[in-house]
Amino acid sequence: MCGVFGIFGHPEAANLTYLGLHALQHRGQESAGIATSDGRQLSLHRGMGHVIDVFPPEHIERLRGTNAIGHVRYSTAGGSFLKNAQPIAVEYARGSVALAHNGNLTNADDLRERLEARGSIFQTTSDTEVIVHLLAKSEQKSPEDRIADALSRVQGAYSLLCLTPSSLIAVRDPRGFRPLCLGRMPAEGSWVVTSEPSSFDLIDAKYERDLEPGEMIVIDERGLRSLRPFASARQSMCIFEYVYFARPDSILDGISVYEARKNLGRRLAATHPVEADVAIPVPDSGVPATIGYAEQAGIPFELGLVRSHYVGRTFIEPQQSIRHFGVRLKLNPIASVLRGKRVVVVDDSIVRGTTSRKIVKMLRDAGAREVHLRISSPPTRWPCYYGIDTPTRSELIAATHTIEEINQYVTSNSLAYLSLEDMRAAVLDARTAAPEGRRALPVANEGSGERSFCDACWSGRYPVEFTPHPRQRQMSLLDF
Ligand code: AMP
Repeated sequence: MCGVFGIFGHPEAANLTYLGLHALQHRGQESAGIATSDGRQLSLHRGMGHVIDVFPPEHIERLRGTNAIGHVRYSTAGGSFLKNAQPIAVEYARGSVALAHNGNLTNADDLRERLEARGSIFQTTSDTEVIVHLLAKSEQKSPEDRIADALSRVQGAYSLLCLTPSSLIAVRDPRGFRPLCLGRMPAEGSWVVTSEPSSFDLIDAKYERDLEPGEMIVIDERGLRSLRPFASARQSMCIFEYVYFARPDSILDGISVYEARKNLGRRLAATHPVEADVAIPVPDSGVPATIGYAEQAGIPFELGLVRSHYVGRTFIEPQQSIRHFGVRLKLNPIASVLRGKRVVVVDDSIVRGTTSRKIVKMLRDAGAREVHLRISSPPTRWPCYYGIDTPTRSELIAATHTIEEINQYVTSNSLAYLSLEDMRAAVLDARTAAPEGRRALPVANEGSGERSFCDACWSGRYPVEFTPHPRQRQMSLLDF
């Protein structure tokens, strides 16, 4: 759960990266960082918190140069420390390099142990640092060959940006787990790479195309070249990006996130209808699916819950206990919508079940006569090892309980989930036409009935091997 952004050849590289990261803030709120290059030197600034807090104007001014990469982080591997913030920048025998990574490497612990046994000293607990060490050890000549060499040893998910003093290199792993796309600023001709194309709009960049799984793009003074340094693998883009994680105004690999979510809701209504007076979303993530549900079911769409967008990282809870304080801080009901009504409430997923239970109680307290919960994805039964933050299997309520048991736990009148097949079909139905003059990225295995997405958190079918319970490395050196 991270976002990456990079730009090459623009006099305001740091400023535009700041804006690009701001548009990717939903992908990670723990830390943010930007590294720039002026052709000779790299400059770096990182901090804990939101982009707007980490980068006051004086910090941006100090980030010199026309090329930049940036990162927003939500820790999935390694703890939430400043040291683990990205970009990671190092100086080694062949110069300096900065890296920004979205995804999780599945063999990082193993590689790290082997590197440490041969004398490597790690500064962080983040899996990304393994790539840095492999890069430094590579005997290849050019930066792109060293990066390809390093990445040929890692497994798992990476959408990776590397900044050297003279180039920007972007790589999407051979399965394309996480998104990465390319754009261009029409006036200056500068190249832009980002996790989600919605960040282009803020800086007036034009979307060019998604990077293909396994593609490496090298941008330097000679222009842009596309390389294919890895053996090809079956495409496994994370389908949860469409269900929950990505912004609804993004189009990823030729599929509109917003339309996909509406389709999920439509299919949910068609397969799990219920007699109800209103359909309400759990905001914000449940909104597009509820629009689809309400439209398909012919039930009015209403806002029965209002979300606060201003909940910070830490909040001082009053000493006197307030019922449902945690969830009330985020969500509050609108009684006039709910009083005496049979309500369908739509959310994208249930993880531990604690939020749903509190929401159902809140809706009943506000006067709802019946509360029917509809989930626009299948039961989450398996943890993600490719970059989405999920708890261990034992904490996933659907891993240990039947749907009826979950219904009883969350105290809804009825509970239903979308099937795996309907979820896949709903997402594929949201393919958009390619922009004029551009090639649409083919959806791999299209028509063959084979899987082209990673759906491991529902199916348990993991496309890449992983260590089941990665040892969480503890920092024994605490440096604040
Ligand atoms: P829970 O109370 O654990 O069942 O949380 C369910 C809520 O968390 C749903 O409203 C989801 O939108 C949201 N959610 C699902 N996956 C994640 C995730 N990986 N990180 C944060 N929130 C999530």
